[in-house]
Amino acid sequence: MEFQFTEKELAFRAELEAFIKSALPPDWQERARSWPGGYGAMEYDSEQDRQDAEIFKQKMVDEGWFTVSWPKEYGGRGLSNMEQAIYFERTSYYRAPSLNIATAIMGPTILQIGTEENKEDWVPGIARGEIEMWLGYSEPDAGSDLASIRTTAVREGDEYVLNGQKIWSSLAHASNYGWVIARTDPDGHRHRSVSILVVDNNTPGVAIRPLINIIGVHSFNEVFFDNVRVPARNLIGQENMGFYYLMTALDFERLIVNIGAFKHGLEMLCDYVKQTERGGKPLGKDPHVRRKLAEIAARVEIAYLFYWRTATLLDRGKIPSVESSALKLVTTELSRMLANASMEILGPYSLLMDPTQGAPMNGMAPRGYLDCISATIGAGTSEIQRNIIATRGLGLPSK
Ligand SMILES: Cc1cc2nc3c(=O)[nH]c(=O)nc-3n(C[C@H](O)[C@H](O)[C@H](O)COP(=O)(O)OP(=O)(O)OC[C@H]3O[C@@H](n4cnc5c(N)ncnc54)[C@H](O)[C@@H]3O)c2cc1C
Repeated sequence: MEFQFTEKELAFRAELEAFIKSALPPDWQERARSWPGGYGAMEYDSEQDRQDAEIFKQKMVDEGWFTVSWPKEYGGRGLSNMEQAIYFERTSYYRAPSLNIATAIMGPTILQIGTEENKEDWVPGIARGEIEMWLGYSEPDAGSDLASIRTTAVREGDEYVLNGQKIWSSLAHASNYGWVIARTDPDGHRHRSVSILVVDNNTPGVAIRPLINIIGVHSFNEVFFDNVRVPARNLIGQENMGFYYLMTALDFERLIVNIGAFKHGLEMLCDYVKQTERGGKPLGKDPHVRRKLAEIAARVEIAYLFYWRTATLLDRGKIPSVESSALKLVTTELSRMLANASMEILGPYSLLMDPTQGAPMNGMAPRGYLDCISATIGAGTSEIQRNIIATRGLGLPSK
C-alpha cells in the first residue's frame, strides 16, 4: 500500500499552503479559536473576524480554490477528491475559514443525486460563494430518528406549502437558503414520503429565532414555517425520495472533520508543555503528561488514515458511508480526548477563557472542553455512528 502523496499532489499542497499564508490576515492564528472537531463555535467572535472570513472566502473563489474537485462546468477545477481532501486538511490546519455547509454538503449531494435543473439552479452559485445554506432536518421530536419528522409540504400547483418547525439549525441566521426535509405524502411509507426542498429564508412565513449554545455563541436557531410557499422547482431530485438523499447528504456531512485542526491543537499543547515549568520541572518531563500526549499523537495518526481513506474511496467513485461514520466517530471522540487532556495539563490555568490576557493556548481549552460535547451529537450521535458501523458495515442485526 502506498501512503505517500504523488508529485502532483505535493505540488498542489505547496501552492495551496502559499496561498493560505498570503491570503489570511497575519494575526489570524491568534484570533481563530475554534476547537478541533467542534461544532459549537461556528459563528465568528467579532464583526472584524466575520469580515476577514468573507474577504478570505472571496479570494478563494477568485483564485479557484473554493471547490477544487467540482466539475469545471459547475465552477470547480475538476481536480481529484484527494486534492480536495488536501485542501480541507491544510485549510483546517491553519484554521482558515474555508468550509461552508453548502460547499461541503449540498453541492456534492446535488451533483450526485440532483436533476439537471437542480444542478443549474444551485451548484454554480454555491461554487461562487453566493449561496449559503442551513440544514433543516431536526425537529423537537425528530433528531436521531429523522423518519419521524412532522413538517409537511403540500403541493398546490407550481408550489409547495410548508408548515412546521425545525430546531438546532446551525447558521440559519447567517445563510440565505434552507435545505429542508418535509413530509410530502402523509399516507406513505415513513422512508418514502419525505422530500428535500430548498427554501429562501426571505419567503413570507419563515421565522428564525436564535438559540444560544453552551459556549455562549449564537450558532443554533429554531426555524418556524407558517404557510411558506416554495416554488416546486426547488424540489431536490424526485418527490418522496428525500430520505435516501438525506443519507447521502449525511455521508458528506460526516466527512467535515477539520482534520488538520487536530494536528494543530496537539502541536499547541506540546508547545505549552515544552515552555511551561511546574514545581520547578518542565511539564514536558512529567511521565503522565508525556503518556497522554503520546496517546493523542497516535490517535491523530489513526484519524488521518481514516481521512485519506475516505478521499481514496471518493476517487474510486464510491460515496463513503460506513467510512464517513467511522471517521466522524473517531474524530469527535478524539476531540473530547484532546479537550480533557488539555484541561488536565493546564491545571488551574484551564479556567482562563478568552479574552483573558495570558490565557494559555489563547483560552481555547475551556472553550473546547464545552464544545466537544456537541461534536459527538451533531450530524448524528456517537451511538448512531456505532449502529451504522455495526449494521451497514459489519452486517450485524439491527435489533
Ligand atoms: C452542534 C450541533 C449542531 C447541529 N446542527 C444541526 C443543523 O444544522 N441542522 C439540524 O437539522 N440539526 C442539527 N443538529 C441536531 C442534531 O442532528 C441532533 O441533535 C442529533 O441528530 C441527535 O438528535 P436528538 O438531539 O433529537 O437526540 P435523540 O435522537 O433524542 O437522542 C437522545 C439520546 O438517545 C440516543 N439514541 C437515540 N436513538 C438511538 C438508537 N437508535 N440507538 C442508540 N442510541 C440512540 C442518542 O445517541 C442520544 O444519546 C445539531 C446538533 C448539534 C449538537
